[in-house]
This record gives sequence, C-alpha cells and structure tokens, in this order.
Amino acid sequence: EEKKSLNFIEHIIEEDLRNGFNNEELRFRFPPEPNGYLHIGHASSICLNFGLGLRYKAPVNLRFDDTNPEKEEQEFVDAIKRDVAWLGFEWNHECYASDYFPQLYLWAIEFIKQGKAYVDSQSSEQMAEQKGTPTVPGTDSPYRNRSVEENLELFERMKNGDFEAGTHVLRAKIDMASSNMLMRDPIMYRIMHKYHHRTANNWCIYPMYDWAHGESDYIEQVSHSFCTLEFAMHRELYDWFLDQVRDSDKVRPKQREFARRNLSHTIVSKRKLLKLVQEGHVTAWDDPRMPTISGLRRRGYTPTSIRNFADTIGIAKRENLIDVSLLEYCVREDLNKSAHRVMGVLDPVKVVITNYPEGQEEWLDAENNPEEEVMTYRKVPFSREIYIEREDFREEANRKFFRLKLGGEVRLKNAYIIKAESCVKDEEGNITEIHCTYDEDSRSGSGTEASMRKVKGTLHWVSINHAVESEVRIYDRLFTNEAPDSHKEKDFLEFINPDSLKVVTGYVEPSLKDAKEGETFQFQRLGYFCVDRDSNADNLVFNKTVGLRDTWAK
Ligand code: ATP
Ligand code: MG
Ligand code: MG
Repeated sequence: EEKKSLNFIEHIIEEDLRNGFNNEELRFRFPPEPNGYLHIGHASSICLNFGLGLRYKAPVNLRFDDTNPEKEEQEFVDAIKRDVAWLGFEWNHECYASDYFPQLYLWAIEFIKQGKAYVDSQSSEQMAEQKGTPTVPGTDSPYRNRSVEENLELFERMKNGDFEAGTHVLRAKIDMASSNMLMRDPIMYRIMHKYHHRTANNWCIYPMYDWAHGESDYIEQVSHSFCTLEFAMHRELYDWFLDQVRDSDKVRPKQREFARRNLSHTIVSKRKLLKLVQEGHVTAWDDPRMPTISGLRRRGYTPTSIRNFADTIGIAKRENLIDVSLLEYCVREDLNKSAHRVMGVLDPVKVVITNYPEGQEEWLDAENNPEEEVMTYRKVPFSREIYIEREDFREEANRKFFRLKLGGEVRLKNAYIIKAESCVKDEEGNITEIHCTYDEDSRSGSGTEASMRKVKGTLHWVSINHAVESEVRIYDRLFTNEAPDSHKEKDFLEFINPDSLKVVTGYVEPSLKDAKEGETFQFQRLGYFCVDRDSNADNLVFNKTVGLRDTWAK
C-alpha cells in the first residue's frame, strides 16, 4: 500500500516540504456546513483530509462552517460527528467557525479603520447592477467613500441589531474593475435576525463564506485547505483576506482545489437531499436508498467499504461521474470476508419430502463462512416440509436449467439430494406444493458415497416449521436516470424511480431470530442483507444491501 503513487494533492504537500515547509506545521481540516447529513461525496473529502493526517502524522480538525443560521441545526452537527467517527476517523479538535465571530468582527473593524471596508446601504439589486460583467468593469457604490467614522458607527449599529435584514452590508473595498468578479468589493457581512444553534441571538450580522473560511483556516493554523473546484476563483479573495490579517511569523494557509465527486443514479447535494426528505420521497436522511453516510450505514455498508471506494476513485482534477456499481463492488468485497452465510427464502413455494418421516426433524451442520481462517459452524433444522424459491422449480426445463425440475435432482445446501416427483396446483394453475423424495444416504458431510454424488444444482431452503417470518426490504436505484441533476430542462425529482422499494415477506433460518440491528448476513444465492433499525423481537426486518453480482442493466 505504501507504494501507491501520490495523488496531485500529496504532490503539492511533498513539494512544500522540499521547499522547506516544516512537517510539524502540517495541519488539515474537514469543514462541513451543518445544513444536512454527510453524503458519499463528503466521504471523498473526509478520506482525503484525514488520510493526509495519517500519512503525515499531522492534526486534522473537524470544523463546522456554521455561518448561516438560516439552514444550520444542532441535529446536523450531531449527525456529522457520528458519521465521521463511524467512518473510522478521529479529529484532533472540534471547531466551529461561529467561535471565531468575535475575532472576525475585530478584524472587520480594523479593515474599516484602514479604509479596506465600508458599509453599503443599497439594495442587493442595485449592487448587482453595478457589478459589471467579466469584460465590463463595475461601477462604484455611492457609499464606497463613506468616512471611517460613519462606517464604524453604522457597522456597530448593524451588529447591535438596529437595522432590518437587507438594509446594509459590510463590503471589502478591493477593486470594482478586477477581472475576477469575486474581487469587486465582496460582501463580508450581512444582517440576519436569526437564532443560531450555538451563538443564540448574540449576533445580528453573519460573515460570508469567503470572509469566514480562510480566516478560520488561519486561526486554526491549517496549512493546507482543500476544497472543491467551484472555489478555484475564490482563491484570489481567500489570499487577499489573509494578506490583510496575517502576521508574518504564522503559517499561511494554502487553498487548493480538487474535483467534486458525483455518483451515478443519485445526487450529492445536501440541499437536494433535504428536499427528498422534506417532500417525503424517502422516509428519512438515513433511508437506505439515500446516498448519505447514514443511509449507506443503514443499508449495510461498512466503513471499510466506503473508505476503499474513496481510495479507489482517488482524487481528481476534473469532474466526472463515478458508476455506483463501483461502490457496490466495494461493499460486496468487504462483506464477502465477514458476513455469515445463512439461508432465507424470499418467494417461497412449499416442498414436501414424501419419504421423510412425519414429525421428524434433524439439525444439520452448516458452515458459517468459507472465507474464515478457522471454520465455524451452526445448526440448521431440516424436516419433511421446506420452502424453496419459486423460481428454483420448473415442471419442465432444458438441460441448462440446473435447478429443480420434475424427474430431476438437486442438492439442498447442507442437507440431502432430493428428486421432484410431482406437483400440486390450485384452480388457476399456480403450483402450491412440490412433492419430492430424498436420498437418505446423501446428507452433506456424512462421508457416504451418496453424499459425494455430484448433482448439478444446489438450492437454499428453510424448514417451514422452524423458519422465522420476516420483513425484507429490497431496494432499487432511487433515480432512473444516470445523472438526475444534470438536466437543464428537467428537475431531478422527475427522475425518481417509483419502484425503488419493494417489501416482501421472507422466511429465514431460526439462527437469525435474535439478530441485532446492523448485523449483516449473506443470504445464500440472494445477496447481502442487514438487520434494520425498525427490527424488533416480534418483527424481524432486513434491508437488502446488494446482490451477489452486478446484475443492473446498463
Ligand atoms: P453540498 O452541496 O452537498 O451542501 P458542500 O460542498 O456545500 O456540498 P460542505 O458541507 O461545505 O458541503 O462540504 C464539506 C467539504 O466536503 C467541503 O470541503 C466540500 O468541498 C467537500 N465536498 C462536498 N461535496 C463533495 C463531493 N461531492 N465530492 C467531494 N468533496 C465534496
Ligand atoms: Mg460549503
Ligand atoms: Mg452546500
């Protein structure tokens, strides 16, 4: 693993180290805004930043970018902490941009005193009109040359709550003709009379992202601040703000950009995910169909599988769409190692083994996982009446059908070879029972000649009398379109798959009776399933994590 080639972000750090940057001063951060739950796109950023921390033995802060009380909540802070920890990462400090409001305010006052900021009292429409275009310079606000005294007084009154939202803003005085539109006197503060989940009603002015983010990095002495590509143009402003506040003996944070990760058949935007929740298209943020970390967890994904996915796709300079089947591959690979193989039948048809004594039962040995170094076993009950999957039986079929057909034999996993003799149908012609005989010398592992006999097919099954009825939730893609939010003329909601959830009644072997929330199993021949949090002693509920193979139509 050590040999893995460096990504371009690591090259940037290596070069800084070669140029004399002190390894001890490396420091990173993951800076979520607590306005929703983390999604699979964030996992890339988390693995990048915390991964760098591990590689360079450097601290990594978890910083909440909580500068917009309109959208932020404590619930989201808690969920984000839970998810980062669950992914297996430890942050050195838990930080909040809101803890820096007093410092930011003091710096803003310095800006005003030095003629680098002014209070603009125009409407946002007026300001937008004066912005110009990338090729046409903007025009100055009539308030651009207010006196320092007037600015100081107005700014203090903004802070004290004397003004309505939207009546004044504080702007940095930079360059209304800059070729970078973001440098044309950007807004530093706006008035908002909103309750903040940490600072309550202490503040009536809130800093804008560009003003708060770089300064937060600086206060925490973050050496390398990685963000997604849409902030590339913001870098000039990030640097400008830093230049105004920075002491020359302190570390100067460096912003660099990497490509946002997009996953096919889903969306990665907290705002749009929130809409799915609010409008009831899904049941919650952790609905197993959601691409959130908590949704994936509830679906049965493991932290390892998500980290492996992030490592596999790596860090890129350009945006592209990652196929969700790669994520599914990663979870399959991981669960294959750890999940116990069990038997469950999801679309049952009854089989009667006519030569098996009525009332008799036996408990057979079943291997838990062939991938285990030291094999462990459990007992599975066998009896005269069992369920198999309806699709595993045909009255007639060609030679390629290796399952059960009339006159044909199959092995029941961990049990006996059976032969189908006849079947019973209802008035509509549906098969209600299959009558079979078994070869009593053929029990798996018994060492007899009959037990070694080769038959083409092996089926999973459950003993009807012993099976535990359970609810099984089977998921399909949440969106029918590969890139639901890339259509200009259509809203992403138009691509919602109406059949993304199917609930069936399944019958599972009794060893699963006391399975606990989050436990994962391979239902043999069907896929991986985990116990949902809705599960209880009276009603066992499973989520299908993923099938055994990639069977999605492309
Ligand atoms: P969203 O639109 O979902 O709210 P965001 O970028 O506004 O995304 P933040 O909470 O600000 O969300 O993100 C925290 C960090 O995660 C940022 O550094 C951001 O760049 C990064 N990030 C967010 N989405 C992705 C993504 N899809 N791929 C990679 N990194 C991402
Ligand atoms: Mg953001
Ligand atoms: Mg956002």
